[in-house]
Amino acid sequence: MTGTRHENSVYSLSESIRQAYKGAVDLILPYKCAVCGSVSDTDERFGEYSRLYEELYGVRSGLHICGKCLSSLNPLEESKRWFLCLSNPVENDPCPGLPLYMPFPYRGLVEKAVPEIKFGKKIELARLFGAILGSYIFSEGIRADLIVPVPLSEERLAERGFNQAYEIAFLVSKIAGIPLADGCLIRTRDTRRQSEIKDINRRAVNVRGAFDAGSNWDVEGLTVIVVDDVATTGATLHEAAKVLYKAGAAKVLCIAFAGNRTLKNAEPF
Ligand SMILES: [Zn+2]
Repeated sequence: MTGTRHENSVYSLSESIRQAYKGAVDLILPYKCAVCGSVSDTDERFGEYSRLYEELYGVRSGLHICGKCLSSLNPLEESKRWFLCLSNPVENDPCPGLPLYMPFPYRGLVEKAVPEIKFGKKIELARLFGAILGSYIFSEGIRADLIVPVPLSEERLAERGFNQAYEIAFLVSKIAGIPLADGCLIRTRDTRRQSEIKDINRRAVNVRGAFDAGSNWDVEGLTVIVVDDVATTGATLHEAAKVLYKAGAAKVLCIAFAGNRTLKNAEPF
């Protein structure tokens, strides 16, 4: 830190005093791990990410994650990140074999972070997931014409303040270089939280007809990626993909950051 910003201000302090002051602030306000709440060290772990974050959002990232939580974020083996979108395939599926790319298991950091995003409203955790997912998609050579987040209902959006699928998709779009088409899918009605419904069939019914194609985008003949934070039965992503196919998309790939699945390989996209 060079600290020339406040050179002419009342905050002008010598570097040594500044360091001492910073140390005192650290003692008073220790960084808290956004995932487990424990006091985190202040090592700059996300150098590149911090720079990207500031560039994209115009503010510094305030995200801190402790080493223990970070070390519990482990991707699936490269050959095991592809799934059939529907965990329980259905008869007369209009898009059988729909692929789902999902690089992380729903364990460790992810399991703790997802409720923090949804109920603790920690938007920065969603953004970090987006950045990680984007780098996986880019490095695995997954390409598409458009990327579309699974939309939240107005009610849910108002309650949470952000759509985590959008936050993830935005970062994926920036890092993987795929244009973001927010509004390409719209939510036609509110649905119960999928996580509140245990039964697979009921989950499918819950999201049936929940989406429509937005009128501002034309997906005719395009390859489209639809993104959500987590996939369990795959019903939500499958429903979104159905709408995109119906709107004329040539190919749809579902992507989720994480999920709990036993292996059911889909064809790599
Ligand atoms: Zn932690």
